[in-house]
Amino acid sequence: MIDIERYDPNNIFAKILKKEIPSKIIFENDFVYAFEDINPQAPIHILIIPKKPFCSFIDFSKKADEKLIAGFFKSITKITELLNLKDGYRLITNVGNFGCQEVPHLHFHLLSGKNIGRIVSD
Ligand code: AMP
Repeated sequence: MIDIERYDPNNIFAKILKKEIPSKIIFENDFVYAFEDINPQAPIHILIIPKKPFCSFIDFSKKADEKLIAGFFKSITKITELLNLKDGYRLITNVGNFGCQEVPHLHFHLLSGKNIGRIVSD
């Protein structure tokens, strides 16, 4: 069970942001850090995270200010443009245990490079 109500400053993505563990960077600006997923589920599988500490989407949408929320989502669009994902992509964020969230720092999965298939299996 992960805790998505109290931010854990030692979670793995916090360590990636602090450069305590390595990651393969795709893009970075004031709002986001984007890097390759270590276990890709598609030819393109990127994780996009806010640089500030939010446990999950609900935490972010409740607590982040409007400038950060706008900057975060506009950055995602910028990344899709930089990667030229003209044929489309899937953007997913898992929340809590039923959402199968493993890492308690908000992240969006950006999946593309092939037809991703139906959204939910089994
Ligand atoms: P979620 O289940 O939505 O919390 O997704 C967590 C994602 O983080 C999974 O897709 C993992 O493959 C990915 N992941 C875990 N550790 C790392 C890491 N050190 N570098 C890159 N991706 C990671």
